[in-house]
Amino acid sequence: MKTHLKVLAFIYMVSVVILLALEFSQFKKVDKLRAEIGESHRLISGQDEGVRLELDYRRFRDRLYSYVRMSGHETASGGNRTSHDDVLVAFDIFWSRVFQINSATVGLEDEQVRNLEPILNGLKRTMRQIEPYVQNLEPGDLDKQAIISKRLDPYGAILNNAAAKISHLKRLRAVELQDRLETVLMSMDNLLTTSALGAGLLLSLFGAEAYRARREERKTRTREARVRFLAEHDPLTGLANRAFLNQKMCQYMRDADEDGQGFHLLLLDLDKFKNVNDTYGHPMGDRLLKKAAARLLRIFASTDDIVARLGGDEFAILTKSSTKQAAALSLKVIDALSAVFTFGDLEVRISTSIGISSFPSLSGSSDDLMRDADLALYAAKNNGRATYRFYERDMGVAIQHRMQLEADLRRAMLHEDGGLEVYYQPQVNLAEQSSHAIEHHEWQITGAEALVRWFHPERGHIPPMEFIEIAEEAGIIDDLSDWIIRQACDDAVQWHQAGHRINLSVNLSPLQLNNPNLPNEILSHLDQCGFDPNYLTLEITESADVQDTKAAARMLSTLADRGISLAMDDFGTGYSNLGYLNSLPLNILKIDRSFISGIEQGGENCKLVLGVINLAHGMGLKVVAEGIETEEQLAFLRDQNCTIGQGYLFGRPVNKLKMFSRLRHQRLSEPRAQIRCIA
Ligand code: C2E
Ligand code: CA
Ligand code: CA
Repeated sequence: MKTHLKVLAFIYMVSVVILLALEFSQFKKVDKLRAEIGESHRLISGQDEGVRLELDYRRFRDRLYSYVRMSGHETASGGNRTSHDDVLVAFDIFWSRVFQINSATVGLEDEQVRNLEPILNGLKRTMRQIEPYVQNLEPGDLDKQAIISKRLDPYGAILNNAAAKISHLKRLRAVELQDRLETVLMSMDNLLTTSALGAGLLLSLFGAEAYRARREERKTRTREARVRFLAEHDPLTGLANRAFLNQKMCQYMRDADEDGQGFHLLLLDLDKFKNVNDTYGHPMGDRLLKKAAARLLRIFASTDDIVARLGGDEFAILTKSSTKQAAALSLKVIDALSAVFTFGDLEVRISTSIGISSFPSLSGSSDDLMRDADLALYAAKNNGRATYRFYERDMGVAIQHRMQLEADLRRAMLHEDGGLEVYYQPQVNLAEQSSHAIEHHEWQITGAEALVRWFHPERGHIPPMEFIEIAEEAGIIDDLSDWIIRQACDDAVQWHQAGHRINLSVNLSPLQLNNPNLPNEILSHLDQCGFDPNYLTLEITESADVQDTKAAARMLSTLADRGISLAMDDFGTGYSNLGYLNSLPLNILKIDRSFISGIEQGGENCKLVLGVINLAHGMGLKVVAEGIETEEQLAFLRDQNCTIGQGYLFGRPVNKLKMFSRLRHQRLSEPRAQIRCIA
């Protein structure tokens, strides 16, 4: 062989040996890391030593107190009373825990953990001092109890803090070790790839084999770690999952049997989270959930309380705090989650409702706890949301009634004869009415407002306010409104075809403005049934339920561009400012009927109505007054140039046939320009 080839071969061999040596040194590192990880997993699985220490401490104190407080009569009667032996056993367990606790802190570097050592030593000394008092304790011996308490009590808060800190550090440590193992395995892969490339066929065979083995190994490790993690955690937020929560709940129940300490289950649901998903898409919804989870974790960071995500926008918290504390915690959570969430330029607000069940009071099993918290949550949502409710015994009945209505409403929407029907209330253009018409109540109808009715087969007529709220809560308002708009447009097309070209007003729920598909849905109905958009008015109310007012304004503009008019309904009862009014492509202000009653007598309402009419005219908008019941009200409104009137004076809401018959009795309306008048 030529000399330079020999040299090259030699260099190959040397580099291969070096690479392999490096690789083998990594093997050792991996083994060491693996042992540490095993240890850390052992530490974090099950209950923490720190937590146990604190529990044992409390258990001992409880036994001690209940024993001392017993009267001579109680001791004689025996039964379930605490015996001296109980106290001694609890003392022994606590004692041995204090001596074991050091092992829980091994490998954890933190000042607080280091500071724990002298505290534990102090505790050990104290335990030795109080041991004789514990040994010779008798019921009613309050002096000895005072001595023990005085020595032991200062440790209570310290142990509590230390326990939480130890748990937290151990979790961090486990994650850190897992990361390091991953890094080492990666670098081994790289080394092997390099050696395989450089060392010819033999080596590449060896290298490829080793590489495959390492990869398999790594995959298994990662899979194992993942399986372990997924078994107890929610992959999106990293919070505990339902299985883990259940496991803890069962454990807390056993604890409660032993030490009598109850606990609470808080069930959280983000109000109207579905709208966030619908408006901004699921990735944004996920980001919001992560942020919400982080806020929850921050609240409970220094406690042993379990924070879990059960799925969707449902979270749960398991806490051993008192009823009063659970209420305070709920308020804290509601507060924290109501603060605005920012994503770049986008600001999203949500609110949270919480239902709380308690153990041991009313709920017996973990399933009961879940069900009761769920019922309480439902009640909280019906209470106006952004609030909490504790479970009460009769909650089930009222809620079941509502759930039944919800189911009936869904059914009613699906069937022709489900009891749902659209009624129409006439609207008249006040300026266009002749004095003869006014005198003889022969109104020329120029429009109609569609008002939905539900005649429930068993419960009779249910007011729209009631079931529309149910539809909103149940998330089926889009479907219901869809149904109403379809019916109303179909009916109005028939009137138009008969020559009665009147305007049709349809109410929208504010929640629909969170549905980005709304313009498409409405426009496609109009196309399908052939109704002229210039004759359609959508009535909206001012509401905090509109999440993104800018997006809503854009959608409404899309509809306005197609000729649809927009009315602000119930004007005066909401809180909208002029800026908000200006930001929407409005054509009409509809004065709420509560302001119309009593205007004929002058007074506050009268001034208010005048103000609104002037404001509307100033903004180039038409004014509709609703709830006109008397001729005096009509005269006043005509004098003030109110554009359109609606109310029992002109007619109550009636079904489509009656409406058609009323239209047939009046002269045919002229085809007219759309009623919009905005500049
Ligand atoms: P709204 O949109 O303000 O509808 C007007 C309500 O006032 C109707 O009650 C109507 O019957 C009533 N009303 C009309 N004139 C008079 C009057 O002169 N005196 C009195 N005392 N009342 C009068 P209704 O039909 O019970 O509807 C109540 C509310 O339910 C509506 O208020 C609206 O917010 C909602 N609603 C009704 N139908 C629908 C619908 O199809 N979709 C949606 N989203 N909401 C609807
Ligand atoms: Ca209305
Ligand atoms: Ca109204």
